[in-house]
Amino acid sequence: MKLANRVQNLKPSATLAITAKAKALKAEGIDVIGFGAGEPDFDTPDNVKDEAINAINEGFTKYTVVGGTDELKDAIIATLKRDHNLSYERSEILVSCGAKHTIYNITQALFEAGDEVIIPAPYWVSYPDQIMLTGATPVILQTEESNKFKIDPEELRKCINSNTSAIILNYPSNPTGTTYSEDELRVIVDICLENGMTIISDEIYEKILYGDNVHVPVAALSKEARESTILVNGVSKSYSMTGWRIGYAAGDKEVISAMSKLQGQSTSNPTSISQMATIEALNGPQGFINERAQEFHRRKNYIVTRLNSIDGFSCFDPLGAFYVFPSISGFIGKEFNGKKISGSIDFTEFLLEEAKVAVVPGIAFGKEDYLRISYATSMKNIEEGMDRIERAVKQLT
Ligand SMILES: *Cc1c(COP(=O)(O)O)cnc(C)c1O
Repeated sequence: MKLANRVQNLKPSATLAITAKAKALKAEGIDVIGFGAGEPDFDTPDNVKDEAINAINEGFTKYTVVGGTDELKDAIIATLKRDHNLSYERSEILVSCGAKHTIYNITQALFEAGDEVIIPAPYWVSYPDQIMLTGATPVILQTEESNKFKIDPEELRKCINSNTSAIILNYPSNPTGTTYSEDELRVIVDICLENGMTIISDEIYEKILYGDNVHVPVAALSKEARESTILVNGVSKSYSMTGWRIGYAAGDKEVISAMSKLQGQSTSNPTSISQMATIEALNGPQGFINERAQEFHRRKNYIVTRLNSIDGFSCFDPLGAFYVFPSISGFIGKEFNGKKISGSIDFTEFLLEEAKVAVVPGIAFGKEDYLRISYATSMKNIEEGMDRIERAVKQLT
C-alpha cells in the first residue's frame, strides 16, 4: 500500500527505540541497566488508584463530554489558582489523552504550511515531528551549555521573521533540566509578544525543581502574556500517572474550542476512569510530590558528581526534571576495538554493548555530542550503572 508523505517523513520516537533495544537485550537474559526512561519510577499514589476503582464500581465507564468533565475542569482551574494565582474559566480548559496529545491538538489547531515555529534545542523529541505534521516548518534555536542551555535573547531575535508564528517553551526542560527565573523568562516572553507570537508553554515538570528555583508560568507574567500563551500541563510526571493518559491545555477560548472540535473527531474524551482519578490527584494530598522531588534531588547530586569525576564527561547540574545531559565531547574521536566513536549514536551503542547501560543519544534531542541519562530509577541501579560506565570508558583509546 502507498503511505502518505506525512508518515513517510515521520521519525519514530528515539527514546522509545532505545527502550525497545534495551528490552530486547533483557529478553535474551542480558542484564541491562536502563537510563532511558521518560517516566518516574514511583507508583501512582493509592488514593488516586482507589478513586479509579470507585469510578469503575460506580459505573463511571461511559463517554464523557469531549474536553473533560466540568468537575475535572474545576479541579484544574482550582490547581492553577492555588499554585500560581492564575484564573481560568471552563471554556479556556481542554483535557486530552496526555500532554503529548494536548500539544498535538494545539499544533493542529494553530499551524499550517508557511508558518514557522521556533523550537529551542535541546528539545523534547516530539515537537519537531508534531510541527512537521501540520505542514509548518520547525526552526531550531540552539542553546549552549555555557549559557545553562537557556535561550539567548539575541539568538532568539535572529530566528524571528514575518512567517514566525509561535515558540514552544519547555521548562524545567526535558532533556537538560534547565529552567528560567522570572526575570529571564520575562526577557524571552517580551521578545515573543513584541513580535505577535503565540507561546506554547509545556510546564509538565513544574513540580520537580531543585534548590531555590521557583516555577513561574509564562501566563502568570502579565495579562498580555496570558492572552498569547497556551499553557500545557498534565499528571504524568508530577503524580506518576504516565499510563493514565491525562494532560490539559489552558488558554484562549477560540483555540481551546478548535482543539475540542479536533478531539471530537479523533479520540473523543480522555478515559472516564482516568478523569476521576485525576480529580483526586489534583484535589487530594500533595505532600508526596515534594518528597519525591527530594529523592530525585539526592539521585541528581550523586549522578552529577560521579559523571564529573570521570575523565571525558562534563555534566551540567540540572535545576529540575529527572534527567542529566552530560557532554561527551571528551570521547569523540576515541576508539574501541578499532571502531571510532564519531558521535552520540556511536557512544550510545558502545555503552549498550560494552557497559550494558541504555542511555539516549543527544542527537535525538537536536544536540550532538551529548547524552540523556534519566535518573528515574533506583539509587542501586544508578550506582551500578555509573560503575559500569566508568569501567567501559576506560577501555577507549
Ligand atoms: C513526558 C512529557 C510530555 C508528555 O507527557 P504525557 O504523558 O503525554 O502527558 C510532554 N512534554 C514533555 C517535555 C515531557 O517530558
